[in-house]
Amino acid sequence: MRLLFLGPPGAGKGTQAKRVAGNLGIPHIATGDMLRQAVSEGTDLGLKARAIMERGDLVPDDLVIAMLLDRVAHDDATDGFILDGFPRTIAQAEALEDRFGDGGLDAAVVIDVDSEEIVRRISGRRVCGNGHVFHVDDPRWVDGEKCDQCGEPIYQREDDYASTVRNRLNVYRDLTEPLIAFYGDQGTTMHVIDGVGDPDSITESIMTALRQ
Ligand code: ADP
Repeated sequence: MRLLFLGPPGAGKGTQAKRVAGNLGIPHIATGDMLRQAVSEGTDLGLKARAIMERGDLVPDDLVIAMLLDRVAHDDATDGFILDGFPRTIAQAEALEDRFGDGGLDAAVVIDVDSEEIVRRISGRRVCGNGHVFHVDDPRWVDGEKCDQCGEPIYQREDDYASTVRNRLNVYRDLTEPLIAFYGDQGTTMHVIDGVGDPDSITESIMTALRQ
């Protein structure tokens, strides 16, 4: 099963995509996590991507497409995968379609959250080096220094600073949101899920929609 999780930054795509991938036994492929890893390792790709990501702009299509096509060729992805953060432009969606045919996907899960809630979430979001996500209002946010799941230090992503969030929301609206119409035109199954509420119930809604 090839699935896409789509939605504005801060909608909870990463959190939900990780859980659903675990439930389905397929890999969670998050281009943002892969790029952050490239930045922290200082690879060629990371050096090119770093400043772009800090501004909240998109890394050039050719670089991201090459990275993603390489990733989906791994053995663990032969039975399917969940894409999180890719495609983010029509050109990326077309590359996926060229690779897999027939729209490129079996279904898309669109997580819907209004922009006021998004700003609240992103400004309080903290992450660890392994991509576990926290919110400063979360009861698990105890010492605020180490991840309670893996012990890695917790930090605020530079692109989560308030000054950058507005740009990311504009980029989403202008370049990524049109993918909803693109996949609609392709006849790809779309599940629109309300992303506000208890995270466990949201996971359950997504699982229910995918079982249909
Ligand atoms: P979020 O969904 O919270 O905005 P991500 O972790 O998915 O964050 O992405 C962080 C940043 O990584 C993006 O703002 C962008 O600069 C870069 N990025 C991730 N995926 C892509 C992509 N498919 N195309 C271009 N840039 C990307």
